Amino acid sequence: MDHFIYRNGVLHAEDVPVSDIAAAVGTPFYCYSAATLTRHYALFDEALAGTDHLVCYAMKSNSNLAVLKLMGDLGAGMDVVSVGEYLKAKAAGIPGERIVFSGVGKTRAEMRVALEGGIRQFNVESEPEMEVLNDVALSLGLVAPITIRVNPDVDAKTHAKIATGKKENKFGIPISRARDVYAHAATLKGLDVIGIDVHIGSQLTDLEPFELAYLKVAELTRQLRADGHDIRRLDLGGGLGIPYERSNTAPPLPIEYGDVIKRTVGDLGCEIEIEPGRLISGNAGIMVSEVIYVKSGEDRDFLILDSAMNDLIRPAMYESHHDIIPVTEPAAGAEPATYDIVGPICESGDTFAKERTMARLNSGDLVAFRSAGAYGAVMASEYNSRPLIPEVLVQGDQFAVIRARPTFEEMINRDIIPEWL
Ligand SMILES: *Cc1c(COP(=O)(O)O)cnc(C)c1O
Repeated sequence: MDHFIYRNGVLHAEDVPVSDIAAAVGTPFYCYSAATLTRHYALFDEALAGTDHLVCYAMKSNSNLAVLKLMGDLGAGMDVVSVGEYLKAKAAGIPGERIVFSGVGKTRAEMRVALEGGIRQFNVESEPEMEVLNDVALSLGLVAPITIRVNPDVDAKTHAKIATGKKENKFGIPISRARDVYAHAATLKGLDVIGIDVHIGSQLTDLEPFELAYLKVAELTRQLRADGHDIRRLDLGGGLGIPYERSNTAPPLPIEYGDVIKRTVGDLGCEIEIEPGRLISGNAGIMVSEVIYVKSGEDRDFLILDSAMNDLIRPAMYESHHDIIPVTEPAAGAEPATYDIVGPICESGDTFAKERTMARLNSGDLVAFRSAGAYGAVMASEYNSRPLIPEVLVQGDQFAVIRARPTFEEMINRDIIPEWL
């Protein structure tokens, strides 16, 4: 459920007509609903009720400072994957003890910043990383709390580009080698080995891969404890999928996901962390765009929008579906039309949808892409010298620009012509 609904014939974000925001900030823009973000966080928090847990929002899905502040105020921790994200989380007021640091390629410089600024744990992904982190911690006279990310070799049954838990993926250490690696880690004085980490992929629409992975983690916990390690924290990653298509069957709910966690690892007495990103931010955001032209082709009609693949790359990158709806509610019984929905960028990959049947639209009409709150704005670029589009946050009847559209001048002045040229 989200808070983008038609009222009085106009799409609203909570209590604000989307057309009012468009008039104030211009199109295209992203728009997020605070009530939806809050609700999604609460669903996870409630799903783990009764267990010692922390929901660490995977901020790579949407890392606007205002979104982070909202999450942090609700009590969320953060899952960060770069020092930039770490510093943003800090800037949004999240204390170090609620920040976990994931990622396969942490550098010494990144480790130093996180160790000095305070960190809940590093999720270490390889032995070389483990040794470097040990080095950096010792050089600072500190001890780094770590979990080791294991790769359980489980098929997440999701898009290949976002599957991370198979042995051919670059993530984690093979679970078959885990006991050796933990034994090695235990000899390193700069590390405090506190738990196990696993994350098998994103946009999972089935609970079975989670169940298989978590059962393997439970078994490993018992083995490692028998080997003498004090395993007291399990980071179970993110990845629960969202319904991108309203007409399809919906993925499992957080409460069902919570049941899987309780059933598989609930009896181990470990503190549980989860790292949901997409499910919190995805359906809490829309991208609003204006129709520039309706163009009749030889065998199809094109809806040419003022947003493009640089603003929302998911369809081009992951062949993903977004529901695209008119901001003005279509009249009941109005005759539909079928369009290829495209942006103005100079490549055919700049296509949002093919043969989409929807209300008939005209130039100047506004449309909203649903489910655009995750992996939307954060993956945007200025390809074709199109300035990054603004982000807006709505709460009740108020809205605010939470990242402004750069002016053309700002965009141009980012480049530097050398004196000698
Ligand atoms: C991307 C990622 C997540 C979040 O995945 P979602 O599908 O957005 O929930 C969590 N943990 C790690 C380590 C990730 O790389």
